[in-house]
Amino acid sequence: MNVTRELFNDVMVPNYNPAAMIPVRGSGSRVWDQENNEYVDFAGGIAVNVLGHCHPALVNALKEQGDKLWHLSNVFTNEPALRLAKKLTDATFADQVYFANSGGEANEAALKLARRWALDHHGEEKNQIISFKQGFHGRTFFTVTVGGQPAYSDGFGPKPGAIDHATYNDLDSVKALISDKTCAVMMEPLQGEGGIISPTDEFVKGVRELCDKHNALLIFDEVQSGVGRTGELYAYMGLGVTPDILTTAKALGGGFPIGAMITTKEIGASLKVGTHGSTYGGNPLACAVAEAAFDIVNDRALLDNVKRKEQLFRDGLAAINAKYHVFSEVRGKGLLLGGVLTEEYQGRARDFLVASTEQKLMCLVAGANVVRFAPSLIIPDEDIKDGLARFEQAVANVVNAA
Ligand SMILES: *Cc1c(COP(=O)(O)O)cnc(C)c1O
Repeated sequence: MNVTRELFNDVMVPNYNPAAMIPVRGSGSRVWDQENNEYVDFAGGIAVNVLGHCHPALVNALKEQGDKLWHLSNVFTNEPALRLAKKLTDATFADQVYFANSGGEANEAALKLARRWALDHHGEEKNQIISFKQGFHGRTFFTVTVGGQPAYSDGFGPKPGAIDHATYNDLDSVKALISDKTCAVMMEPLQGEGGIISPTDEFVKGVRELCDKHNALLIFDEVQSGVGRTGELYAYMGLGVTPDILTTAKALGGGFPIGAMITTKEIGASLKVGTHGSTYGGNPLACAVAEAAFDIVNDRALLDNVKRKEQLFRDGLAAINAKYHVFSEVRGKGLLLGGVLTEEYQGRARDFLVASTEQKLMCLVAGANVVRFAPSLIIPDEDIKDGLARFEQAVANVVNAA
């Protein structure tokens, strides 16, 4: 069969608009398309391929588990799931884990748990969920409504209720909404899709205090910021603020679909037998690959190297910017970085992405004004250099086309 980009238009619903080229193979931070063109990957899916493409340890885990047991269902437990859960809880504040297949599902579980916990302990009135404008939590109807972009949740009929949106990094806006009727505050400890925005110290600590004061749970959505991305295993570890519930996905499986919600024993107790579930959640293949990825990422030397590589990116982007003046700042943490476009280039992040693809470089946008980089955490320094040279050419092309 001749597989072309045109075939996409025939057989796929039109909710995506993928690039013209079709990737067929990857290794480390390099990807090849059908014509054997070689790309440098600064995108990693969307902050997913935390160890690049086809890391030997992950391929090995997949093959080994593939010969043993693929799936049974949650009528039975399985060894990879329990091993991964033990490692996740040993490494974090949490005691217990719920496995899902994606970030949206992990968040759906977190929100349902928060509502059920509040009902169990405080009664029906305590059901308000506070989240943030520009936040992103997934595309299920509950999570997309909790997310802070109405454009994503409008047009599907009546929405889940008792959800209010405050302004990120504005503690007063949280104060204005929170009360004893609040059951949870959900936030990203580094907003990803919303434009790579870090919380201020004062803000994130203040939200924790407000939650404590009103007996509300603090949910950190670390679907994008987790698993080493910021140079910490989870971003909360670098903030000095511990959530009550945390969700993790994207990088967790290194490219194999898996998500997890982790929490304390006291809170987790509210998801009693039968309250929630998933057919595939905790699937042995997914957990075996995720365990292999976790073993590699949960290592101080690797995490310190993420911070060093961040500096290579920042230095390289600063040098490009000194020539072309396209960014007002480069923000983010670790290997989740965003170049914020100046006034002159407002709304044109996609132009930089398209120009990068032409230079055989994969990168991302985060909204219309931010060019986002989320490469493998072990991207070789030479690939960073090579990719930045390609990015410089892409920037030059955008600037010169104006
Ligand atoms: C990507 C993302 C999600 C959604 O994850 P899916 O796997 O696409 O469902 C949720 N929260 C954050 C912060 C994300 O970046």
